Amino acid sequence: LSPVPSDIEISRGQVPKPVDLLAKEIGLLADEIEVYGKAKAKVRLSLLERLKEQPDGKYVLVAGITPTPLGEGKSTVTIGLVQALTAHLQVNSFACLRQPSQGPTFGVKGGAAGGGYAQVIPMEEFNLHLTGDIHAITAANNLLAAAIDARILHESTQSDKALYNRLVPSVNGVRKFAAIQLARLHRLGINKSDPSTLTVEEITSFVRLDIDPATVTWQRVLDTNDRFLRKITVGQANTEKGFIRQTQFDIAVASEIMAILALTDGLADMKDRLGKMVVASDKKGHPVTAEDLGVTGALAVLMKDAIKPTLMQTLEGSPVFVHAGPFANIAHGNSSVLADKIALKLVGEGGFVVTEAGFGADIGMEKFFNIKCRVSGLRPNVVVLVATVRALKMHGGGPNVSAGAPLPKEYTDENLKLVADGCCNLQKQIQIAHHFGVAVVVALNVFKTDTKAETDLVCQIAKDAGASDAVPCYHWARGGKGSVELAKAVREAANQQNSFKFLYDLQLPIVEKIRTVAQKVYGAEDIELSPEAQTKIDSYTKQGFGTLPICMAKTHLSLSHLPDKKGVPTGFILPIRDVRASIGAGFIYPLVGTMSTMPGLPTRPCFYDIDLDPETEQITGLF
Ligand code: ADP
Repeated sequence: LSPVPSDIEISRGQVPKPVDLLAKEIGLLADEIEVYGKAKAKVRLSLLERLKEQPDGKYVLVAGITPTPLGEGKSTVTIGLVQALTAHLQVNSFACLRQPSQGPTFGVKGGAAGGGYAQVIPMEEFNLHLTGDIHAITAANNLLAAAIDARILHESTQSDKALYNRLVPSVNGVRKFAAIQLARLHRLGINKSDPSTLTVEEITSFVRLDIDPATVTWQRVLDTNDRFLRKITVGQANTEKGFIRQTQFDIAVASEIMAILALTDGLADMKDRLGKMVVASDKKGHPVTAEDLGVTGALAVLMKDAIKPTLMQTLEGSPVFVHAGPFANIAHGNSSVLADKIALKLVGEGGFVVTEAGFGADIGMEKFFNIKCRVSGLRPNVVVLVATVRALKMHGGGPNVSAGAPLPKEYTDENLKLVADGCCNLQKQIQIAHHFGVAVVVALNVFKTDTKAETDLVCQIAKDAGASDAVPCYHWARGGKGSVELAKAVREAANQQNSFKFLYDLQLPIVEKIRTVAQKVYGAEDIELSPEAQTKIDSYTKQGFGTLPICMAKTHLSLSHLPDKKGVPTGFILPIRDVRASIGAGFIYPLVGTMSTMPGLPTRPCFYDIDLDPETEQITGLF
């Protein structure tokens, strides 16, 4: 329709096919799905075993130029491309997307189901709750947080004997270690399974984790942009006997458990990673893990359904997996390895899986390669780099825009100079993808105000910068048929030889790995470590975590650490304020500049426009 109706009107105008029918169409067996309502189903991991001999399809990563408040449309491109491949070129294909966080849905950005005629439907189910995975993560994360503070309290107020009696209670006069306790004894080098044979010293080391409260790095989480939880004090009731501690909430999608969900390859691996999460150090400087707290099994129980990807569909009936949703600026920003692996088997040889990395290629794509591909062993055949004329104009020096205000004429009228100047960002992002040896196709997501001279100019500059192809896309206004040219270009590029390589060797010292990303990807002159960051790096290296990859927490709004520096900033030194370690997920996590792990709400958040009609139960205002 023209004009294109709102995202939610389009979504509601299409009745999704029953999810069991969709599952059958793509080759799933009836007992391989668990249906949630009419349009969503979780898919069992047993599928991977059944299809293990099936060759994988081609693997396509969608990334973007540095985002601006004008929006780039990576999700719409991902969905439009899959619609074009499936419905218009009759190629088996799958989109793999992240589950949106409720924070941005009610905050500034809105949902993430795509938009226009390139959407996942029903978009309200996609954007809100889905199948409860983020709630499960919140529950697991906060159980662990509660376990830490409770343990500190109990250890400090009870004698060794009292602690031992409680931790290893006697049932019918017999004391027995639980499996998790035997594992802890083993880690302590005490190879005894009979509780009656422990010496006094052994009992002390068994019952006392001796957590140093000042070293607790595990935070509580909530899936709401609640800036007032950025710094909190816990333990103020008298019952906590003065165990007052300053801590903070992070947004739920920044939880290490979310990162684990996205990187794990199955239940056993997930359980292992959950157990390895380091939450603090003891008073001697040794790491204390979730396993030490005895909570691994409970965490795995809370996460056992979340590990299954959720199957949904696009407006044109193509299959979509929605699974995991880490932010790309404060986490690794990629959907799950499991969803990609299952989808690659389901599409089989000749098919395509299109997966999306968050924010600009400098962030989401860099982490896709250096973290996700390292873990999964999968290698993409093509990178699709999304750009828009309006965002490039902003990189070329166009004025800032505030949400809801009318767009200045620079963005609505033809302005070839701004476009040409802003293409430096596109060129740089193409170059970054080429550092990894992968072919790039530029998808220019066309808005109705773009002129042909502007779109031609971007495509020409992209090709001159080494892109295999650059294609204007019209999926937002026309659905899959508006992206057929892109689909053909991607198919062509996927058949080219590619020489994938990682950006850095894991054996490099942590500081060198950070410096490599800062210089080669962001274009920094150098890095500057705060004393706190240096101390943490020394301590993680001493604890044996020096060979993990790096997951930078950096603003997504600039290649540098300064959000208002558009285009390709140069001559900057990247400040590393702090460094954290996500040992279960398997990365070191430097915080760049003033990056916050809990977003806030603006003066007029999206929730102002979201409403429910009690008569029809219809939701309005989601986008
Ligand atoms: P990203 O994945 O880069 O964050 P999305 O694909 O979610 O971006 O799109 C962000 C918003 O911009 C959505 O509301 C979508 O409807 C809108 N949008 C995307 N492409 C277009 C377009 N070509 N014309 C108009 N609006 C668009």
